[in-house]
Amino acid sequence: MKKKRDSPIEISKKDFRKMGYKMIDSIADFIDTIDEQPVTLGETPEQLQKILGTVSLPEDGSAPDKILSKAKELLFRHSLLNGHPKFLGYITSSAAPIGALADLLAASINPNVGAQVLSPMATEIEKQTIRWLAEFIGVSPNYGGILVSGGNMANFTGFLAGRTAKAPKNIKEEGISGAPARLVIYCSKTTHTWVEKAAVLFGLGLNAIRWIPADAHNKMDNTLLEQAIKTDLEKGCKPIMVIGTAGDVSTGAVDDLKAIAAICKTHDLWFHIDGAYGIPAAVIPRLKKIFKGIEAADSIALDPHKWLYSPLEAGCTLVKDPNHLIETFSSHPVYYNFNIGETVTQNYYEYGLQNSRGFRALKVWLTLQQVGRKGYIEMIDEDIQLSKLFFDLAKKHKELEAITQNLSITTLRYVPANFTAGKEERDSYLNRLNEALLNDLQQGGEVFLSNAVVNGKYCLRGCIVNFRTSKKDIEEIINIIVREGKKMHKKLSGK
Ligand SMILES: *Cc1c(COP(=O)(O)O)cnc(C)c1O
Repeated sequence: MKKKRDSPIEISKKDFRKMGYKMIDSIADFIDTIDEQPVTLGETPEQLQKILGTVSLPEDGSAPDKILSKAKELLFRHSLLNGHPKFLGYITSSAAPIGALADLLAASINPNVGAQVLSPMATEIEKQTIRWLAEFIGVSPNYGGILVSGGNMANFTGFLAGRTAKAPKNIKEEGISGAPARLVIYCSKTTHTWVEKAAVLFGLGLNAIRWIPADAHNKMDNTLLEQAIKTDLEKGCKPIMVIGTAGDVSTGAVDDLKAIAAICKTHDLWFHIDGAYGIPAAVIPRLKKIFKGIEAADSIALDPHKWLYSPLEAGCTLVKDPNHLIETFSSHPVYYNFNIGETVTQNYYEYGLQNSRGFRALKVWLTLQQVGRKGYIEMIDEDIQLSKLFFDLAKKHKELEAITQNLSITTLRYVPANFTAGKEERDSYLNRLNEALLNDLQQGGEVFLSNAVVNGKYCLRGCIVNFRTSKKDIEEIINIIVREGKKMHKKLSGK
């Protein structure tokens, strides 16, 4: 018998090195020239299917260097480049280059971070990462938590911990239907759509969500929040949780978290903060005051794959008393032998929804060290300053209307010069015009913005979580919007 088994999946050391070096060279070139590429080619799914081909599952294997070269070509040429300096869409950041190397290393070791015995050092690194993230945003390092795939999962994890903590104690045995009173939750109308998924998935139902109107600054109206809680108590409902937002997805507004914390304390409610986008800005000393109250949160969701520039996927749930996670997620089947003698182990399968878990902590942990707190303060602050510049330039321009600016999100719209129409006609035309303009810009490949609807106005929206964007990019983006806006107006108005 041969000493080593000859499996079709193994790659020899020599080949691995050769392919690896080649791959790294290509990636280095890709990153180095990313600003010279179009943000996207705007190809249709049909075009892409044609390029990809429609062969069925291969019967025989292929040489790895050949298929890797093909994969590189497909992806380098036909992707939307969110690492491009003019990508300001949704809340998807440019990815830290060290993250690519981290993922390669993580996949090579392949620890299963569901149990400490299966991932001895990786579990310790995740624990340290969690502690650093708590320090980063300025809450007690005694918060515990877990890394998850993103903001939705981070919010779900906090939501479930809160449900266990505040629902009747027999919820684990009897489920929601066993609750003597209807469980209800509160959040601002600006809350991200995850909350609807959570209400549906975790048994409360959509009608359990009390959508509290926002004030003129897009913050939850806390007077209306108090009223809603009182009304529910009078009706015999059981309020369990308030969700505050630290950086809403459309305009970046941060709720008055300190006031929400006080309301939660009065009524013994779980205080969850969705900081998926905005909470990393709390690292900037000057901005600490708008985040006052986070230290009182029972749970916090944040997304390293947004404003910490980690490659996808990395979200994080922090919980003030991590025992709430264990109470929610832990179980002890006979086939798990995860205790290591008398020592206390941290088995992450007991802290969240996943069982087997990858080592997503590594890329976050390495980036936090490469950059340090100071580096992050600098990058996040620059993103905010660029967003303000975007707003100011729009404000000064005759053909642009600047709408909102919070954290690193600016909303604006194109308004043609000498445009006169009755109010109703004007509103509906400008909405139509800006929607068409946005679609056009997104396909064009020069810049990538997304949209927001603010007080009925369809806006172009730029969110800068991009360490490659410069002042020059913002100036050029203004010119692109106006140039394309003129064209679109001509097309739509027939003038
Ligand atoms: C992005 C975002 C989410 C969802 O996060 P994913 O990482 O996309 O799952 C939730 N809430 C807010 C405020 C967000 O900005």
